[in-house]
Amino acid sequence: MCGIVAYVGSKPVAPLLLEGLKRLEYRGYDSAGLAVVSPGGIEVRKSVGRVSVLEDKISQDPDALSAAIGIAHTRWATHGQPSEPNAHPHTGKTREGHEIALVHNGIIENYACLRTYLEGKGHTFTSQTDTEILAKLIAELYETDLESAVQKALHEVTGAYAIAVISAAEPHTLVCARKGSPLIIGIAEHSYVVASDASAIVSHTTQVITLDDYQVVKLCAGKRDKYTQEQGLWAVEFRTTTIDNVPVTSEVTELEIDLQQIELGGYPHFMLKEIMEQPESIRNCLRGRIDHREGRVVLGGLTDVTRELVRAKRFLFTGQGTAYHAGLIGEYLFEDLAKIPARCEYASEFRYRNPIIEDGTVMVAVSQSGETADTLAALTEAKERGAMTIGAVNAVGSSIARVTDAGVYLHVGPEIGVASTKAFVGQVAVITLLSLYVGKRKYLSNDAVSEYLKQLEQVPDYIQRVLDQSDHIKSCVEKVVDRDNWLFLGRGYNYPVAIEGALKLKEISYIHAEGMPAAEMKHGPIALIDEGMPVVFLATKGSQYAKVMSNIQEVRSRGGRIIAVATEGDEQISRYADAVFTIPPMPDALQPLVSVVPLQLLAYHAAVLRGHDVDKPRNLAKSVTVE
Ligand code: GLU
Repeated sequence: MCGIVAYVGSKPVAPLLLEGLKRLEYRGYDSAGLAVVSPGGIEVRKSVGRVSVLEDKISQDPDALSAAIGIAHTRWATHGQPSEPNAHPHTGKTREGHEIALVHNGIIENYACLRTYLEGKGHTFTSQTDTEILAKLIAELYETDLESAVQKALHEVTGAYAIAVISAAEPHTLVCARKGSPLIIGIAEHSYVVASDASAIVSHTTQVITLDDYQVVKLCAGKRDKYTQEQGLWAVEFRTTTIDNVPVTSEVTELEIDLQQIELGGYPHFMLKEIMEQPESIRNCLRGRIDHREGRVVLGGLTDVTRELVRAKRFLFTGQGTAYHAGLIGEYLFEDLAKIPARCEYASEFRYRNPIIEDGTVMVAVSQSGETADTLAALTEAKERGAMTIGAVNAVGSSIARVTDAGVYLHVGPEIGVASTKAFVGQVAVITLLSLYVGKRKYLSNDAVSEYLKQLEQVPDYIQRVLDQSDHIKSCVEKVVDRDNWLFLGRGYNYPVAIEGALKLKEISYIHAEGMPAAEMKHGPIALIDEGMPVVFLATKGSQYAKVMSNIQEVRSRGGRIIAVATEGDEQISRYADAVFTIPPMPDALQPLVSVVPLQLLAYHAAVLRGHDVDKPRNLAKSVTVE
């Protein structure tokens, strides 16, 4: 949530910052702003709305921003509504009268008492944000240099932050720090690009440093007295310390994404692109992980912990949103295939209820970004209470990947669409592999594992067969898109798919939708059903088929409009359903990997038909880095 980008180097900074903000816009888009250090001091520009609004504003006075150091932000408001005064950067003034400007991702939890303290010191606040106190606090504590003022200020705050700070007193210096919110530093030729994630860095360089919590990095653009556009290339240097000023050696790593992966490539929306590329992304996720000759799963990241996994007494999945739904499927997979008790918990709830972690508990943290604040906190809690921790994350080198004992990356490529699609299928694929990995070492026969693996390899082709129905799904959605209340029902492995389908519809179409176990409908929600209410059933052939068919009848007799996800070749279902989308015949345990895809397309088409901006849904942003 929220995107930060900052630059130190030799090129005029404003266009680079704007380009970076556009790449990060999926992380927040209620307002945007930037600040640069120019000869006359710090220049700040802000606007409410999308980055393009800021760009228009800046294009009116480009000369004012011809500096070579700058910071920028695209906001997802936590404290204070989206407005120009609340947009970042925020500023403060040192006792000597030098201006400080700062962008921030996260929440400063003790902002109220710090604000009172700073007001007492004569600082005047112009926003309702928590962030502004940090700008003022750094200014208040500024004595000799920006780096130590930042270090001192960070000792006083609680909460989460990734920050980038500049000062008019040190026009060659950018200081950044993090705790709990992501920040990476790209090292390009004669320049540094700092950003919340790799998408704003990859067009400059693939060499990066990932900051750890409580680390501060000072980036300098050589020793120059004046900024002019003709100055040529500057020497750049950086140093990393802790907030206690202890030097840290930062490891430079190579980014694993390329520019093509983060561009639309002809699609109108990232969400559609990511839905459509699922055959390829799931192939990438499975690549090298299925050994047919031996009939086994190969998960290199788990080699060192295999014994503990097999001996585990209990698996605990955790995540939020879509990742939580993937974890719920993990419950079914682990109890069914590995015969180990498994539960999935909302990370946000787990952490605050004094959870009991028994010996032999393995926590699996599921997250696309690997930065989800609640999931990270739950993981830390479980670890402290003695659980072994495994990550199932997409973003390589992310916080969750780094704090877990071991893990399996999704390898589905960057996900830009705010509504998660390919990452969900990747998460389920990874958890399926994990359950077979453990199951094979417990009760699952070699033949059963081989059969599952054979089927798993077909999943990309099976997904393609669903994608080919996109036009049909769209024309079915057209007939019901004006309805404001929907139900999604499924049983067994398809129950989590039902709630994921409802979530997709809610988040991008703003249609109220509820997902639940099909049997639960009779215990209350059936009262909602009236003439023409769309009810989406996961009615595929499998152990629950007959029961789901009865539930369909119950809804039909009350006038509900049935939309069914069924198995190819099922003649019976078309007699009862108003619309049918099909998936190939598959074992129950693997069905979620494919049965979710028609629901992704359904939500996508509904949102487009309703005229919504699919990639920037109201109030939402990618990668929830605040609790
Ligand atoms: N808490 C800050 C604000 O509301 C930063 C939010 C963000 O991460 O975008 O402005």
